[in-house]
Amino acid sequence: MGDTTVVTCGQLIDGQADEPVSDAVVVITDGQITDVSTREAASGQLSAADTVIDHSGETVIPGLIDAHLHLKGWPSMDQSDYLTYDVAAGAARATTHLRRLLDAGFTTVRDVDSRTGLGLRTAVEEGSIPGPRIHTSHRAIYQTGGHGDPHYLRHEWVDQYNPYDPALCDGADECRKEARKRIRDGVDLIKIGTTGGVLSEKDHPEQPQMTDDEIAAVTQEAHRVGIPVAAHAQGARGIRNALQNGVDTIEHGIYIDDAGIELLRETGGVLVPTLAIVDRICEVGADHGIPEFGLEKAREARAAHVDAVRRADDAGATVALGTDFVGPELVPHGENAVEAVLYVEECGMEPMDAIRAATSRAAQTLREQSVGVIEPGRHADLVALDRDPLDDITALRDSIAAVYKGGERVDDGT
Ligand SMILES: [Zn+2]
Repeated sequence: MGDTTVVTCGQLIDGQADEPVSDAVVVITDGQITDVSTREAASGQLSAADTVIDHSGETVIPGLIDAHLHLKGWPSMDQSDYLTYDVAAGAARATTHLRRLLDAGFTTVRDVDSRTGLGLRTAVEEGSIPGPRIHTSHRAIYQTGGHGDPHYLRHEWVDQYNPYDPALCDGADECRKEARKRIRDGVDLIKIGTTGGVLSEKDHPEQPQMTDDEIAAVTQEAHRVGIPVAAHAQGARGIRNALQNGVDTIEHGIYIDDAGIELLRETGGVLVPTLAIVDRICEVGADHGIPEFGLEKAREARAAHVDAVRRADDAGATVALGTDFVGPELVPHGENAVEAVLYVEECGMEPMDAIRAATSRAAQTLREQSVGVIEPGRHADLVALDRDPLDDITALRDSIAAVYKGGERVDDGT
């Protein structure tokens, strides 16, 4: 057994329970949480500890999880920049983004479409670069003409090389084969697109994409090896098609209807809203190269998206935090906790539920039992906050005092 570290916490929010605990202690051995109790009950462990970390003046929460982001390392959100995208440069930029995510308290992330996620996951796991734990889908699967197809380019060019990351597949057989290729590569989940989107020119979020057979071909292959399927799904019909054909998580869910929310509850599915990107596009998208059609669709979507989160949360569906941030200034990694602030300030979510969305519920979205809750048996991924997020949710964004991954301090400490 390795050295024992005890973290004293002024207040502990474990990511799962309804109430916080005052004067708590977290005991860590070999990077794992081995005990959680109160200072009073743990006085013996405190005096025997090899190291004591004092956060008795702070609130300690689990390491945050962003269940929908991209580690593409795009230099900007200007579509003309995608044409010269270089994978190596993208990966290099993404290493800076990973560093910023750690500093912001995000110790686990789910990358849902990139060409870089698998390599970055390897580099973080082997200790070559610092970063959060990474779950990745690698390249997503979309239909020709779908959200992942750059509509502004000639099809002949895209057929040769899609400057976006997704693979374009048509028919159940092609979708199945592409899913099997992802599984062969060792992905943590498969990402598909079952509706149009905001930043794709010639479709609309309300339009369904992929047939039932195509969706089912992917979910069958994924479930056979025990990994989930995430669907970019914004319109009501495409959300229902996804859930009725085995999809596990609905990404965005902007125009989800009551039947979609009911299906989420029936199937144990998760809604991963991404208010942060829609909010940023509406606020400052025009200054960052977002074309007029994207600005217009984002403005249309904003109120509906807020309403979707509110209705899903009120109905008791599981909501997990995602931002759709990509890295460039418009959607910057490191400011991802703004999503939780939007849940509370705009959707009326309780601060404790916003914290759960960013911890235990996000872990559930990833099917990951080793993170997201401060309890014995999980990784010692912890964030200390100067201010109490239950009083003011902006504490998640603005008052990070220290970040630990596997019991080791990983933020820059300033
Ligand atoms: Zn996304």
